[in-house]
Amino acid sequence: MTNLIEVHSLKKHFRLPGGWLSGETKHVYAVDGVDLSIASGETFGLVGESGCGKTTLGRMILRLIEPTSGKVIFDGKDITAIEKSRMKPIRREMQIVFQNPLSSLSPRLRVEQIIAEPLTTHGILSKERIRPRVIELLEQVGLGRQHLDRFPHEMSGGQCQRVAVARALALNPKLIVLDEPTSALDVSVQAQIINLLDELKKTLGLTYLFISHDLNVVQHISDRIGVMYLGKLVEVGDAQDVFDEPLHPYTQALFGAIPMPVVDTKRELKVLEGNVPSPVNPPSGCRFHTRCPIAQKMCQETEPALRPVRGARQAACHFVE
Ligand code: SF4
Repeated sequence: MTNLIEVHSLKKHFRLPGGWLSGETKHVYAVDGVDLSIASGETFGLVGESGCGKTTLGRMILRLIEPTSGKVIFDGKDITAIEKSRMKPIRREMQIVFQNPLSSLSPRLRVEQIIAEPLTTHGILSKERIRPRVIELLEQVGLGRQHLDRFPHEMSGGQCQRVAVARALALNPKLIVLDEPTSALDVSVQAQIINLLDELKKTLGLTYLFISHDLNVVQHISDRIGVMYLGKLVEVGDAQDVFDEPLHPYTQALFGAIPMPVVDTKRELKVLEGNVPSPVNPPSGCRFHTRCPIAQKMCQETEPALRPVRGARQAACHFVE
């Protein structure tokens, strides 16, 4: 299977305001050297605690955020080397669905205008063909022509997220980044949206980067998953393998495979012991050493590389074996 996405040594360091008096410039190391590939037709789940850099990584892959350094290869092209003004044809092929459909859809536009907007912006259909295409998209996401004239506030959260998915599909993209697409929805409709996304992926041959903190959802939908901690990937592998037997101590703690205090009995991300280190001043060596139950002295000094450990599994830990 060919790779649709390849990410090489990708970094995003946000400069913090101030510091000019002291002459010291501080940065938030939001993403700090990520290598990753996503095959065509694959769903890659990205998990990690809030603030670990997963949303920044997703947006850099779409080039909605400019990387500090590194490369993003999309469908064989280095999109980080393309001038912004020449990104428009590539943008058609990569779309995003945000967490909160009510805030991502314009409250002043009707559903027909919302879904038609990318079609008119990119000028790929004649005026007469736009309405039939919008109806076709609505039907693909389980809605219909009766929703054309509705405003977002006249619909449920689940219906709004279906509209957001229809808009993302409008330009026949190859890749969709789904950034916590179900976390703002009622539990009762989350499964419907997940099943819809799964079905659309199969029928339309889509590739997904699925960002979520909900492990049940990620396990259900993903082919492979990547686990992020403080701006770095610490484990990557086949979703079922990682869930059945997490190898990295951070993944084990997240998935509750080793005893850690939990905030919820649901299989959501656990809250680990110890404060989350600041991404402004990440720990030396292994970034997880301040919270790792099996840390050794060398963990404070030497950073472990993300390396193959078992077939296609990768983990960044000196003692993973
Ligand atoms: Fe823990 Fe050391 Fe492995 Fe990091 S390298 S996860 S601190 S054992």
